[in-house]
Amino acid sequence: MNARIIPFPRRPRPVPVVVSLVTVDWDVARLLYVARCSRCADAFTALGLADADDWADTHTCDAELVALLAEVVIVGRAA
Ligand SMILES: [Zn+2]
Repeated sequence: MNARIIPFPRRPRPVPVVVSLVTVDWDVARLLYVARCSRCADAFTALGLADADDWADTHTCDAELVALLAEVVIVGRAA
């Protein structure tokens, strides 16, 4: 008997230009879902998880912002 690994079906996503690192959290204080990209620091708040998830799915990082943030981190380390 041959064991075969069947890949778990994933829902189709738009092809990202830059792979984003979005995490969705529940903000207890504001009673909102907060999607935040750890790469470009962009954030989105939503009343529903589906909306936050949609934003996370379609989010693409602003390349200029990512470059700017990388510079700030480097300057911060040098100081
Ligand atoms: Zn981003």
